[in-house]
Amino acid sequence: MTERLQVAVETPQHTGLGAPLDYESEHPLAAGTFVRVPLGRREVPGVVWPGTSDGAAPAELKPVLQAMSSLPPLGSRWCELVAFAAAYYQRGIGEVALSVLPPELRKLDDAQLAQRIARLHKRMAARPPAAHGPGAPALSAEQADALQRLAAATAGDTPPAVLLHGVTGSGKTEVYLRAADAALAAGRQALVLVPEINLTPQLEARFAERFAGRHIVSLHSGLTPAQRLRHWLAAHLGLADLVLGTRLAVFAAMPRLGLIVIDEEHDPSYKQQEGARYSARDLAVYRGKLERVPVLLGSATPSLESWQRAREGRYQRIALPSRIGGGALPQVRLVDMNQLPKTKGVTTALSPSLVAALQSRIERGEQSLVFLNRRGYAPVLHCGDCAWKSGCPHCSAWRVFHKLDRTLRCHHCGFTERVPRACPECGNLDIAPIGRGTERLEEQLAGLLRGPDGRAARIARIDADSTRLKGALEAQLGAVHAGEVDVLVGTQMVTKGHDFRRITLVAAVNPDTSLFSSDFRAPERLFALLMQAAGRAGRDAQQASRSEMWVQTWHPQHALYAALQRHDFAAFAESQLKERESAGLPPYAHLALLRADARTAEAARGFLQAAAVLARGLPEAEPVAIYEPVPPGVARVADVERMQMLVESASRGALQRFLAAWLPLLHGVRKEQRILRWAVDVDPLAI
Ligand code: ADP
Ligand code: ZN
Ligand code: ZN
Repeated sequence: MTERLQVAVETPQHTGLGAPLDYESEHPLAAGTFVRVPLGRREVPGVVWPGTSDGAAPAELKPVLQAMSSLPPLGSRWCELVAFAAAYYQRGIGEVALSVLPPELRKLDDAQLAQRIARLHKRMAARPPAAHGPGAPALSAEQADALQRLAAATAGDTPPAVLLHGVTGSGKTEVYLRAADAALAAGRQALVLVPEINLTPQLEARFAERFAGRHIVSLHSGLTPAQRLRHWLAAHLGLADLVLGTRLAVFAAMPRLGLIVIDEEHDPSYKQQEGARYSARDLAVYRGKLERVPVLLGSATPSLESWQRAREGRYQRIALPSRIGGGALPQVRLVDMNQLPKTKGVTTALSPSLVAALQSRIERGEQSLVFLNRRGYAPVLHCGDCAWKSGCPHCSAWRVFHKLDRTLRCHHCGFTERVPRACPECGNLDIAPIGRGTERLEEQLAGLLRGPDGRAARIARIDADSTRLKGALEAQLGAVHAGEVDVLVGTQMVTKGHDFRRITLVAAVNPDTSLFSSDFRAPERLFALLMQAAGRAGRDAQQASRSEMWVQTWHPQHALYAALQRHDFAAFAESQLKERESAGLPPYAHLALLRADARTAEAARGFLQAAAVLARGLPEAEPVAIYEPVPPGVARVADVERMQMLVESASRGALQRFLAAWLPLLHGVRKEQRILRWAVDVDPLAI
């Protein structure tokens, strides 16, 4: 007697087949079983999917070739989460399912997998050694209150999502730790998401210290394939009590899930930027609802989406308005760059008052952080004689000058060359950098600052270049914590999450560029970035009263800086939400971007225009606005022309129904128009 069942497999996107396919099996197989099935002439991995197909069965079904019976089936709610993500982000179910499972899984046969699982059981049978941490601190009154409210809010059968709005240094992590403790004590597993891989070791250390004797695993893209499989298995088998990870961990299979924490919930890194472009934050909230477990979203600067939901009462808001130890937030000082004497190269100016402030910190033995969101030495090289600039031959972007290794590097396609000795156009020997990146800032500061007894000031730089080697970031952060650095220069990498204890001054030297960006989210991001950066200063309550945040700006009157000066996130959020509402932008409208890549801009535009024509024939398009195709900020990358078209609706449901009706038609359009690929981005972060 053979059984008919559905299997989710990865089907090529151009086939337009996103749903699970029918197969037959000699033995009944539980939904969620990992299998191997034939597809065309290949043998592919798949997951037995819940439910039965409604399509007419072909006369002869192909058989399931192998079932991984040593692996417990994936749970029904895991399947539901994947199915939801696939439908919402308009991808195939099998594509999503297979892309979020550890890649190593598909390489093993059942016997090998059984062996790995047995080994893992043995390994996990030994309790991890008890750490000798300082133990849990007594809660501050605000933390205790927050936890009480959290417990009350989440006691019911359908716990709401909770937005923990706590200023930097208010002790949000302690709240996560206690909430996780409660979940673990109740025999459940906890899932903790962080935006960046760099933050996982730090958080892992804090959790390991607190939860001695518990099994903690991490899940992120920095693991080896074998590690990732092991950690994933530990979660899926219920052996790990705590799972810490980046966005992909939102799909970790966890049979005893009891709590989801999303730290820095506003962070754009939670959005996947390729394939199924999902938001791990939004999926976490969905998963919480599905599994009826509390979801704790923490931030000092919540996303406007979450803030708005809290305002509407859909999320419960809990606040931690003060810093641990009662320390003040740093005083924000705006340096009006218009007041500086005009000199050549004024774009790279450091105001004398800022330099003096940095110098006096060094003399007092305190640390400073100088923040500039641009790596390299200078964003472009320029010839004064013929106006040549260091453009990338493959992209519509400048190549960045990196002085340390004397290269011109494209940050979009990676194309790298040695810096020419002379202008490649006219032979002029005098080609000069324009503007400033972190390398140049480091050099400038080294020339301007002195250590106490005449020694050189100790300046360290942390950015994607200086931390390329494994262990480099840890070593550099270690040096900062140990007080071996006077001034830390860095990109946004250093503004997030780090608990620096000796920094009393943070400076943003050129933040204005985001003020007038065409991206409607740029102010929100800048505000969050500056608040986060400010939050690195004065984390030690003893020094907090002397701590300062300096902002060099040409627009000192700007409302964003005024709100920053008052540390007033609520006021900033209100004004932004008003603007968004009157402009019909998220969270008051829902967006999707259709993107097309082609060899020529005309082909990419042609595809999008043809797609728009097709849309007009659909009744589902009625409540939806479709805009003209436009190139993104950088139109050409690696010799590929990119074009995008915005689709907008006041109703999320209407947008979803439209996309579901429209996108399947585009496979046909693609055949007529010569494009390389197309994709849709639902709830895009940047437009
Ligand atoms: P946030 O994430 O809100 O910026 P953290 O969780 O990093 O803040 O906490 C800031 C600092 O305060 C950390 O060094 C942390 O160890 C400390 N801390 C947190 N809660 C307490 C407490 N109840 N008593 C003493 N110190 C605390
Ligand atoms: Zn020239
Ligand atoms: Zn390039």
